[in-house]
Amino acid sequence: MKKYILTQFGNPVLRKEAKRLLLDTVHTSAFRQLVKDMFFTMHKEQGIGLAAPQIGKSLRLAVLGVRPTKFRPTLHPVAPAVMVNPKILHASREVEDDWEGCLSFPDGRGVVPRSTSIAVEYWDENGEHVQKTVTGFAARVFQHEIDHLHGILYVDRMRNMRTLCTLAEYEKRVLRFR
Ligand code: ZN
Repeated sequence: MKKYILTQFGNPVLRKEAKRLLLDTVHTSAFRQLVKDMFFTMHKEQGIGLAAPQIGKSLRLAVLGVRPTKFRPTLHPVAPAVMVNPKILHASREVEDDWEGCLSFPDGRGVVPRSTSIAVEYWDENGEHVQKTVTGFAARVFQHEIDHLHGILYVDRMRNMRTLCTLAEYEKRVLRFR
């Protein structure tokens, strides 16, 4: 299994509109290996989501899976998912503020408003069409990862830049009170 080096904020690949994948590509063994390596990299980095631009590939592909981590002990688990060419069909007007970080900016944390519910469609790792409604914290993770495929980073979504802080300050001032 391969652990990719992650691209960091400032790398132009994180600002590009990623390319659509063809269904033929999804059915190759190279693709299956890529997905495995992305999950492997995400788990090694203690992440809960990873988009292809974060490993330097400008493709509309992201993996996610939420399980409680050291940094987010109160996380609600979300089943692992592979998203190919995802599209948000509807996003609730109701939004919720919560803290976010990004593996491409490991030392930062900030408060980001996100829709509490989204309708999303994508192909899974087998090229099967999936359409579903995602709510709560999972909806936040989906929105963060899908943003990556459009060159959008969580700091772009922040309403109050004064909440931007380092991981150390976040742990000291926020995490210990959760
Ligand atoms: Zn990210």
